Amino acid sequence: MRPHPDFGVYLHIPFCEKKCVYCDFYSLENMEHKDVFVSLLIEEIIAGAKKYSDHLRPATSVFFGGGTPSLLTPEQISTIMETLRDQLTIHPDAEITMECNPGTISIESLRGYKQAGINRLSFGIQSFNQEELNFLHRIHTPEEGKVAVRIAREAGFDNVNIDIIFALPNQTIASWTSTLEQAMALNTEHISAYSLIFEEKTPLFSMLQKGLVKPQDEERDAELYALTIDALSKAGYIQYEVSNFAKPGFACNHNRTYWQAKEYLAFGPSAHGFISKQRYWNYRNLKRYFEAVRLHGTGEASIEVLTDHNMLYETAFLGIRSEGLSKRRFLTDFGIDLHAMIFDRLDAQILNEFLQVYDTDGDTIISLNSSGFAICDEISVRIIALLEEALGSEWDAKGYEEEDDSIIDLPILQDKTR
Ligand code: SF4
Repeated sequence: MRPHPDFGVYLHIPFCEKKCVYCDFYSLENMEHKDVFVSLLIEEIIAGAKKYSDHLRPATSVFFGGGTPSLLTPEQISTIMETLRDQLTIHPDAEITMECNPGTISIESLRGYKQAGINRLSFGIQSFNQEELNFLHRIHTPEEGKVAVRIAREAGFDNVNIDIIFALPNQTIASWTSTLEQAMALNTEHISAYSLIFEEKTPLFSMLQKGLVKPQDEERDAELYALTIDALSKAGYIQYEVSNFAKPGFACNHNRTYWQAKEYLAFGPSAHGFISKQRYWNYRNLKRYFEAVRLHGTGEASIEVLTDHNMLYETAFLGIRSEGLSKRRFLTDFGIDLHAMIFDRLDAQILNEFLQVYDTDGDTIISLNSSGFAICDEISVRIIALLEEALGSEWDAKGYEEEDDSIIDLPILQDKTR
């Protein structure tokens, strides 16, 4: 039986065959340093396990993200997994996910990843419309997206996610409905459906600034999102976060670790970890990451110490956007009756129309219902404002500017390029 999310491990694999126009994750098309990267990643895992040895718990999830982890060979994934098992305790039923690009896999490679210990695959499919895939600069065809899921089953994977994106420029309701229907027909255990974001510093953002693309208007975006929630819930998927839907029992444990503000170690360039009330960031630059690991053992560029106060706000913010706010957790961890604070002050209309309250396992949970997910941003802002009023304090959600001294630049390799 899968353990409750408690402690995660994230590994960032910074290579992609070709950059997609919308993507702001750190990755390089140049793969000449792949072997060096794997050996330094292993060094970093060994050093990280030692550095945080007092705070480690059995890992309930491991996530190979990126970038494109499926550009590593099964042997490389196997070596990394062996290092993780040697250096950390991996729960025997841990969820071990690997992100794959459908254009970079074969039945043999998937069998090899399974043999290495991967038990969940996540495919970036994005669309089943060839024109949309071309626009996004994806390297695979719609058919290859379907074949990826089929061969994953043949290789023995019984826990598979696919990512799809809506609100692409010029996307019609008909083309999104078609992608959604083809996605549901694959009957994967999990579907992540994201609205396209024009992230700064991406080619897509430049195209936007030059007037070469036009985003969907807010009403159309909301319409596509509502249609998505409705179709996926009718197909038996439970929405457990703004963009994430799972068959019962298949919510992604690794995502839940983040959203429940639990701890996780992170390795690889640009990876972010959170442990012992400290958030840390690795260099977002392969050369600097290599130098840092060679010099310090870890790739950390900076760390930030979170106060209890910020932990409280962060737990509330992440919780309301995903599986809800636990009365027990806020009492145990922060000594406050969060529910009373919210119930007594929340407008009846919001409470009745957009939230649900239920008892489970001796706890009481307040969470968004499907109408609430559709206006998740507004509700999160409202709940944080209520907390600020009740606690007489403010949450600086961005950079904790008022607590600059909590950000500690490491002594060597300070660099603005990270
Ligand atoms: S394959 Fe994934 S990580 Fe790589 S550029 Fe495309 S979206 Fe980004």
